[in-house]
Amino acid sequence: MPIKLLPDTLANQIAAGEVIERPASVIKELVENSLDANARNVRVEVADAGLAKIVVQDDGAGIPRDELKLALQRHATSKIASTKDLFTINTFGFRGEALPSMAAVARLTLSSRHATLPEAWKVTPEGQLQPAALPQGTRIEVADLFYATPARRKFLKGARSESQAIEQTLQTMALAHPNVAFTLVEDNAESWHLPAAQGDFLSAVGERVGQVLGAEFASLAVPVRVEKEVAGHMVQLEGYLSPPTLHGGTARRQYMFVNGRPVKDKSLQTALRNAYADRLPAGRHAMAVLFITVPPEIVDVNVHPAKAEVRFRDANGIFGLIYGAVRMALQDYRVTGLQGYREPVQQDPPPQNHTFSMPTPAQKLWKGEEPHHQGEAFLSSSNPVILSSSLETPSLGAAIGQIANTYIVAERADGAMILVDQHAAHERLVYEELKHQFGAGRISSQALLLPVIVSLSKHEADLLLGHAEALQQFGLEMEAHSPTSLAIVAVPQVLGAANPERLLRDVLDDLHDLSPRTTLHSKVEHVLATMACHHSIRANRRLSLPEMNSLLRQMEATPASLTCNHGRPTTHLMTLETMERLFARR
Ligand code: ADP
Ligand code: MG
Repeated sequence: MPIKLLPDTLANQIAAGEVIERPASVIKELVENSLDANARNVRVEVADAGLAKIVVQDDGAGIPRDELKLALQRHATSKIASTKDLFTINTFGFRGEALPSMAAVARLTLSSRHATLPEAWKVTPEGQLQPAALPQGTRIEVADLFYATPARRKFLKGARSESQAIEQTLQTMALAHPNVAFTLVEDNAESWHLPAAQGDFLSAVGERVGQVLGAEFASLAVPVRVEKEVAGHMVQLEGYLSPPTLHGGTARRQYMFVNGRPVKDKSLQTALRNAYADRLPAGRHAMAVLFITVPPEIVDVNVHPAKAEVRFRDANGIFGLIYGAVRMALQDYRVTGLQGYREPVQQDPPPQNHTFSMPTPAQKLWKGEEPHHQGEAFLSSSNPVILSSSLETPSLGAAIGQIANTYIVAERADGAMILVDQHAAHERLVYEELKHQFGAGRISSQALLLPVIVSLSKHEADLLLGHAEALQQFGLEMEAHSPTSLAIVAVPQVLGAANPERLLRDVLDDLHDLSPRTTLHSKVEHVLATMACHHSIRANRRLSLPEMNSLLRQMEATPASLTCNHGRPTTHLMTLETMERLFARR
């Protein structure tokens, strides 16, 4: 074939391949345009998970009549004008590609009424300019997505997964724009409405976090706000973190934004994970909503067509900022209230050059306690504590006390001292019990006196109800309450009624992880571990001697109770002989 310039339509379809992957990407681009136009209200309507129709309407600045057709041209943008602008971008859009790409793969109708004009106009899918009826703002309708490129349509994952992606996309944007009201209407039914949150940015985000991620995270979240100079530029980090006691089965609920732009950046995620490191049980993930604000000239947002990645001029500096700030914030909250893990106290030197200012409200939520230095010093002494894997029954001795409300000390007939991590041990016992019951048919449940109502998104509710029968076998029973909430009516008996909502959300994470080919039953062990881990209430709790002894006796009766589900040891033993050596008696 001779070399020819591609016709516009084809060039746009090719561009669309990068920008418009699925219905959720249409919504992302359209809502970003609304936000760039300073909208206060954004309404998104979809039919058939966006495949039949997507409508985004806003009350932003609008587009003047004589620019409407231009907006649909490739490389037409009002957001940058020179190369210099490219390095100081503070809008979401700048490539001038979204609208023409959509118009190339779907039937797009663009209607708008500009702030300064008395009437609205629209461009039809056929390119006709016509009068329209619309209040100030813009309405874009994208119908029959991918009708023009059927191959792409085939790659979509099915309605449920597409609407989940839509919801996730919108929620992410809603978190970063708490002062904008968002509405989602799916197949003519309103799925959710998020009213504009009030107050300064961080408290407005806090309010939005409650609307989007649930009341529990919102009420326990640890606020963080740090400003630091990185390579000569002021960088700001603010947002909310889950305390070490609240965690999810996936990293799904880690939201990070750079200059308001949602990013999925490996290095930022690693900084967060490392900062939590030993504070979370293995395999568990923190929740976070973090905003990084940098001068536009030190970040390149033009490295990814959908702009999901960014490149920092000083990536290490940013990494260090996040790591340091998160550790600092968690350190202040390390000694938790009723059901916390107690981590070893280790004094990080405070990072230099930081101006840390911790907002105060959440501090009230935590009941501070003095760290137990005594217990820590004892455990970390050089090496006299050895792990024994060959304890005989009745091997764990008689409890004589408790250290740091966390470790049981027991004395055995032969003089050996046994240390038991009560939380890890209890978790293991619960797990073994759940496994036993499940193996015998089903996990016995305990009805709740008052059902616990949990607000969820429509998809989360559907997902849970879709697995209701399987979950019943796990001892978790629920009923539909409204399209966006469920009533938990019974929980596994061994777990008790401590916190049914958290249990439900943990199990939900496991469901999110299921691929179309796996069933809940193929992940039994995982779900049981989730449940047992969730029920980690025994660290940092004072136990009576009979309670301690009962735990020790249960451990003796339970195979594999010497390590917890995460493979950490539950038990250490020091023989009399070791003690004698320690004191130079031998
Ligand atoms: P970009 O956002 O990269 O500039 P788009 O193709 O998304 O490119 O949009 C082209 C132009 O159309 C924008 O630069 C903007 O001027 C205008 N536009 C699009 N959507 C809206 C909207 N909702 N409100 C006001 N103007 C809009
Ligand atoms: Mg755009």
